[in-house]
Amino acid sequence: EKERVFNFAAGPATLPPNVLKKAQSELYIWGNSGMSVMEMSHRGKDFLSIIQKAESDLRELLKIPENYEVLFLQGGATSQFSAIPLNLCKPSDNVDFIVNGSWGDKAYKEAQKYCKANLIWSGKSEKYTKIPSFDEIEQNLDAKYLHICANETIHGVEYKNYPEPKGKDTVLVADMSSNFCSKPVDISKFGVIYAGAQKNVGPSGVTIVIIRKDLLGNAQEITPVMLDYKIHADNKSLYNTPPCYAIYICGLVFEDLVAQGGLEAIAKKNLEKASILYDAIDESGGFYRCPVEKSVRSLMNVPFTLEKSELEGGFIKQAVSQGMVSLKGHRSVGGVRASIYNAMPLAGVEKLVAFMKEFKAKHA
Ligand code: PMP
Repeated sequence: EKERVFNFAAGPATLPPNVLKKAQSELYIWGNSGMSVMEMSHRGKDFLSIIQKAESDLRELLKIPENYEVLFLQGGATSQFSAIPLNLCKPSDNVDFIVNGSWGDKAYKEAQKYCKANLIWSGKSEKYTKIPSFDEIEQNLDAKYLHICANETIHGVEYKNYPEPKGKDTVLVADMSSNFCSKPVDISKFGVIYAGAQKNVGPSGVTIVIIRKDLLGNAQEITPVMLDYKIHADNKSLYNTPPCYAIYICGLVFEDLVAQGGLEAIAKKNLEKASILYDAIDESGGFYRCPVEKSVRSLMNVPFTLEKSELEGGFIKQAVSQGMVSLKGHRSVGGVRASIYNAMPLAGVEKLVAFMKEFKAKHA
């Protein structure tokens, strides 16, 4: 039988084996439906039970308050870069962006098309290795929202606490694509949270938006129907055909996270995994180096370089030969990146750390 590798890809990313096996067992016939989830009507009772269970498990995991809608949408997190300004502001409205990496920068640039987007802090000159202290940043008091990317997937920078919008009607909006469901989050601090599924909670094709209900219903007139959150909320994510199979897999992942003890338990495991990897980097005497400031290092995406950069290609290749794949850093930054989402087992990280020590002993 073929063996599974440890997949350190940034997304699409590794999924829990028990989820894949459950999906396999239900692939041909789901429940008593006599058909696959892929073949079902999205309006039939079977699929309705699937999407409703997915939502209720997600609500339990994140303790999502009643006054928030959960939407299962398409178009990736990238579509939300435009949907958010279209839904929350008029073209003349101010919005603020704190940019800690490439994804926040993309969101900022897209928002400029639909409103007055202000870059109130950028980490670009420091190569996106930091998050500022919030009181040193000046905010626009009339901003409709303050946008952050909670975890920059490419640069490995993660918020450990969140800025408070200073304007009385300003809401906090967060792209949580790459740390969604990796730890508990106080949803009530946010106006909107959004996340593509394909890192921590499922396959690509579905994007989850959690939005406070009072923010719905003010979309700009030009808003395409597919980007109008109110339409999706009024229709329980079934305005048109949703990505049914992807939603089903997310549902299996949520069920699995609940069974593992919820997000407190998951956060503990994630901290342990990330700690042994960062320790291996920091204790390598400079052989490996992570450029990110320690207090904001991501528990999900761990970027590092080798002091002898000419060894990086060999490092990545030898890792593959030992069953550890997709360790190459993003093409825009190079180096190595280990993405260690919820579904990466501790054994995978331990194997990587052992390999790093062995590689260093050979090449230091
Ligand atoms: N935001 C973040 C933080 C991401 O990591 C990604 C994908 N790598 C995106 C947005 C874009 O997501 P999508 O490909 O689903 O549009």
